[in-house]
Amino acid sequence: MRYISTRGNAPALNFEDVLLAGLASDGGLYVPENLPRFTQEEIASWAGLPYHELAFRVMRPFVEGSISDTDFKQILEETYGAFAHSAIAPLRQLNGNEWVMELFHGPTLAFKDFALQLLGRLLDHILLKRGERVVIIGATSGDTGSAAIEGCRRCENVDIFILHPHQRVSEVQRRQMTTILGENIHNIAIEGNFDDCQEMVKASFADQSFLKGTRLVAVNSINWARIMAQIVYYFHAALQLGAPARSVAFSVPTGNFGDIFAGYLARNMGLPVSQLVVATNRNDILHRFMSGNQYFKETLHASLSPSMDIMVSSNFERLLFDLHGRNGVALAELMSTFKATGKLSVEEDRWVEARKLFDSLAVSDEDTCATIADVFKRTGEVLDPHTAIGVKAARECRRNLSTPMVVLGTAHPVKFPDAVEKAGIGKALELPAHLSDLFQREERCTVLPNAIEAVQAFVAQHGNRGKPL
Ligand SMILES: *Cc1c(COP(=O)(O)O)cnc(C)c1O
Repeated sequence: MRYISTRGNAPALNFEDVLLAGLASDGGLYVPENLPRFTQEEIASWAGLPYHELAFRVMRPFVEGSISDTDFKQILEETYGAFAHSAIAPLRQLNGNEWVMELFHGPTLAFKDFALQLLGRLLDHILLKRGERVVIIGATSGDTGSAAIEGCRRCENVDIFILHPHQRVSEVQRRQMTTILGENIHNIAIEGNFDDCQEMVKASFADQSFLKGTRLVAVNSINWARIMAQIVYYFHAALQLGAPARSVAFSVPTGNFGDIFAGYLARNMGLPVSQLVVATNRNDILHRFMSGNQYFKETLHASLSPSMDIMVSSNFERLLFDLHGRNGVALAELMSTFKATGKLSVEEDRWVEARKLFDSLAVSDEDTCATIADVFKRTGEVLDPHTAIGVKAARECRRNLSTPMVVLGTAHPVKFPDAVEKAGIGKALELPAHLSDLFQREERCTVLPNAIEAVQAFVAQHGNRGKPL
């Protein structure tokens, strides 16, 4: 499989190189040159497969030529063997034909584990083969950091540095990062805010001289392997609900458009997906596009669903590329307009094309809490605020009541106690067994001033399993 840039002016790469690349050199994002397409018979024959075996069949074409079948099978078995629920992504019924797909049974209790648990193992496998080591530097305001650290904790050839704003993440979120101990794991609390952390990561990618030749790898959601891993659970859910004989609709709590883009790819690979609902909080740039063809930057609002607090959606360019007939030149132009003006719209027929599949809703904090309360009252289930937004949007946007609607349950409610409390749910939530002693565990974290020189010096000093680069 070869991968090409959405802006048409960077070298095509194989899977191995795309895994290690961040942005393409022309500023675009990598996408498969040709998407595999499965027949209905093939998809039907996968019904009932264990998750890791289904994952092998869905993802094999993407890694072909870079990883052998035997190795890939073993990596997948290990990856999903570490999940706390034997169904890996169980479906829970809320209502007639309305389901939540629970994607929070991985080690850090959010769907990001599906991709990052795999990414760490894939990186290590390929680096061992190449005899290379890499450094990962990432910034987090919450979920991504812990999932990335968990994904890389056993990697022999990766040192990971995660920056978070000092005293500005919740205690659960901080402890999920700082209690994972390992000589290749480095938590840095910056005396600044999340934007300061993110700026330092960006600047480190722009000038990597402090790394003395060691390669820097990105683990944010533009990494192709993350999208790839997320395609699998759409197949998994749909097969359980009668696909491919029956079509299925999905509602996806959305921020950077990575998770829902995976659903769009599943459909293009042959899965009968009849509708995809983009569910956002009040940071609603995607809803503004889907409802009125207006994609423009606004200020950032802090919400009860912080993992979806974004101003622009970094993966949206991948959909725009397809809407423009995969014309890289046209896309480079569109994105440069966006960079200059902070806004874009597409030609009417392209937007109409997008609207054939996508619907959208922006959900306020108030409606988020009301949905948590409503679902609790009717079913006894406690939803996290992101998933609640997905449920609300599914109910408002649903096209056909006889088509099963699956809401992606992106996080465990115990990670977001504020929203659950605001929703008036008195029930105390408990950490799952594998995290029950989280508050007693030893923490390891270095506090650094809000200065890039200090951070880069720290990385250079510790980037080789705690030793200097
Ligand atoms: C990251 C995240 C999202 C948003 O996913 P995208 O791929 O960025 O659209 C939604 N919910 C939770 C809990 C998350 O951690």
